[in-house]
Amino acid sequence: MSATAADDQLTIFERSRAGRRAFVAPASDVPERPLDELLPARLRRAAPARLPEVSEPEIVRHYNRLSRRNFDLDTGFYPLGSCTMKHNPRLHERVAALDGNARLHPLQDPRRAQGALELMWRLQEALGEIAGLPHVSLQPSAGSHGELAGVLLTRAYHEDRGERRTKVLAPDTAHGTNPATVTMGGYEVVHVGTDADGNVDLEDLRAKATEDVACLMLTNPSTLGLFERGIQQIAEIVHGVGATLYYDGANLNAIMGICRPGDMGFDIVHFNLHKTFAQPHGGGGPGAGPVAVADHIEPFLPRPQVVRREGAPDDTIGTGSDGRLGHFDLDYDRPRSIGRLRGFQGNYGVFVRAYAYIRSLGAAGLRDVSETAVLNANYLLARLRAIGVAERLPVAYDRVCMHEFVLSGAPMKRDLEIRTLDLAKRLLDHGVHPPTVYFPLVVDEALMIEPTETETRETLDRFADTIAEILREAAQDPEIARTAPHTTPVRRLDEAGAARHPVIRQAL
Ligand SMILES: *Cc1c(COP(=O)(O)O)cnc(C)c1O
Repeated sequence: MSATAADDQLTIFERSRAGRRAFVAPASDVPERPLDELLPARLRRAAPARLPEVSEPEIVRHYNRLSRRNFDLDTGFYPLGSCTMKHNPRLHERVAALDGNARLHPLQDPRRAQGALELMWRLQEALGEIAGLPHVSLQPSAGSHGELAGVLLTRAYHEDRGERRTKVLAPDTAHGTNPATVTMGGYEVVHVGTDADGNVDLEDLRAKATEDVACLMLTNPSTLGLFERGIQQIAEIVHGVGATLYYDGANLNAIMGICRPGDMGFDIVHFNLHKTFAQPHGGGGPGAGPVAVADHIEPFLPRPQVVRREGAPDDTIGTGSDGRLGHFDLDYDRPRSIGRLRGFQGNYGVFVRAYAYIRSLGAAGLRDVSETAVLNANYLLARLRAIGVAERLPVAYDRVCMHEFVLSGAPMKRDLEIRTLDLAKRLLDHGVHPPTVYFPLVVDEALMIEPTETETRETLDRFADTIAEILREAAQDPEIARTAPHTTPVRRLDEAGAARHPVIRQAL
């Protein structure tokens, strides 16, 4: 290994040298006081924290180098199905960074946080309108957390009517968080099959929708990127046995301003603000998974709720930005609430960005987002077919797709002896983030592609050409894809092993 390559491998702790500093404060002119007066000994560390001691240029280089080893949306195309990796407008970062937003303390008295509460209230109103369900809680921190809220709301709703139900239905195409949430919520998961067209199998649903079912969790469009044609019958079947219909909103990017989950018959909806409403995401957050609910679920929403009250309390300015007299507040008086789901009010910076997104696009702009997302996906699918890729990578269900589509790599594996995983890894050598692979589980060697609305036709064409080129290369020499990637800082990792047995090197 060359000296530079070895240096490249050092952790920030290995760079540490005793006494080295990035910043030296001027001598203090505040008189010293004994430490015991300021902080009792029992609350203090026995030894100093083990922090790396490095110069500022070393810190900058270290983290800059690490950032360049990563793949991100600002570097290249990122068609990761289900995750909606759309561009993050820089305008949002500017408004989120305004002092009044970024430096507001989460424990601030509501009377002195009227602007922030108003923003949250207006975001609730906008999300309610988009979902077609009027009551919104911003508390859940992710889509999966919204799912948990939905299952707890369902339980509270049934228990309030004196009913104890034990099962929750989910299609066999469901995202893994759905059955995981159901299990966490204390219910048994029952899977419903998919029919030959990729819809929920209505016969199977009828057979499984019994009086002990609490809820059906559904994504529409489904994880196959297909609009659920029987949605009205599904709603009738589910409501016919007194269960709730839950909407997993991860695929909302396909339908904004075109149709609304509330109008389809859903009772509870979660949003993934970090997917549909443009937030920097990946690497674990922060995100937000607000829920919108129908009237009969409203009494159970988490506590506190952000509300608008008539009239002004003594010491606030007293009018909202529309000039109406009123003020914003946190309502804790919710006796049937499922309670608090997290500390404070939620990931506020995410709310600011989502609100900026909604207001800068407006209603017509949001519809345009969804129409363009669907058009881009259908264009890319047609393009892949036109250049002859479909033979080796056929679409799993041959229908007009929504904002994403799922291909099967089974013929490619049979004819070219490379797997979907190999194709995905080889894409990295071409500067493209791989699509989602091996999900949904009902498609053999699945490749789930979501281009999003912000990509140009040229980018989509280049992606299609790249896929075709990798298939041509594999016909000549499959070993190249099987051993890919060849140009990235690391090659094939044991991803499950890395998550279960992390080895974190520390030199101290
Ligand atoms: C992303 C996703 C989820 C979970 O959302 P998180 O915000 O990642 O917790 C649930 N369902 C589907 C279909 C998804 O794509």
